[in-house]
Amino acid sequence: MKCVRCRARAEVQLRAHNAAYCRPCFLFVFRRQVERAIDSERMFTQGERLLVAVSGGKDSLALWDVLADLGYDTTGLYVGLGIGVYSDVSHAKVVAFAERRGLPVRVVTLEDEGGGLAVPTVAGLTRRVPCSACGTMKRHWFDTAAVEGGFDVLVTGHNLDDEAARLLGNVLRWQSDHLARQRPVLPATHPRFVRKVKPLFLTSEYETAVYAFMCGIDYIVEECPNAAGATQLLYKDLLNRLEAASPGSKLAFVKEFQRTGQPAFAAAPRESPNDCERCGMPAYGTLCAYCRLVEEVGRKAAARAGAPA
Ligand code: SF4
Ligand SMILES: [Zn+2]
Ligand SMILES: [Zn+2]
Repeated sequence: MKCVRCRARAEVQLRAHNAAYCRPCFLFVFRRQVERAIDSERMFTQGERLLVAVSGGKDSLALWDVLADLGYDTTGLYVGLGIGVYSDVSHAKVVAFAERRGLPVRVVTLEDEGGGLAVPTVAGLTRRVPCSACGTMKRHWFDTAAVEGGFDVLVTGHNLDDEAARLLGNVLRWQSDHLARQRPVLPATHPRFVRKVKPLFLTSEYETAVYAFMCGIDYIVEECPNAAGATQLLYKDLLNRLEAASPGSKLAFVKEFQRTGQPAFAAAPRESPNDCERCGMPAYGTLCAYCRLVEEVGRKAAARAGAPA
């Protein structure tokens, strides 16, 4: 197999793109794909301050690596979720990467913030699926860190596989509000929000894994222990089977949704949020999802301790 750019021996085959590349050409094409996503979606410009949410996994670290190489002003954000060894190892990987590249990183540890509520405690007390509690908490601390740090943009490493799985989940239940908001760029719609962007939304998990491997990025290989039962994984598995039989399906699914479906959902009138009475973040009702969760945890913890709920 030969590289489609330079005819040298290819090391990577990308069936979705009907292409194969040698190592230097793959690295070039990967970076160019990220750059094109940033430019075509007008995600951000040089001079803006980017907060890059990093989990210690391949996607977010590969993205941070590319953004730093492209000369953007980046700061990493690591949110420690309190998920045992997984959190300890992922934290260490992020700090080691930041030190090696000489990049600044902010660390928010949930045990030390807002009442010391880590994901396992919250999930256990509220009997929620860990990923649901985790999602609400991560979103809250990402938004808080971005606004309080004076950043212009919050960048996340969601890749094509994540976006396709999320889209499938949203479509299966026709969640029109979620479909209207599933975009690679979410403008700052509230004073407590900054713009949110996903430069890897058209880049597959396989491509980021190859990039991280070729660049020698040391990332956490183990999945979060809560990932095993997550519905997201079931959707990913289904989509992988589809992709194997029909290469390019995921790309078409996400790309065409962004071109035709998403604008139609976004055009429908929607209720605008209030300000949360407690933290000032957008809320449908008096409290935002995070403050409602914290309140529920307080009630349940009190009930468990035998105090009146
Ligand atoms: S798998 Fe679930 S609990 Fe684990 S980090 Fe992801 S969202 Fe959080
Ligand atoms: Zn080549
Ligand atoms: Zn709130």
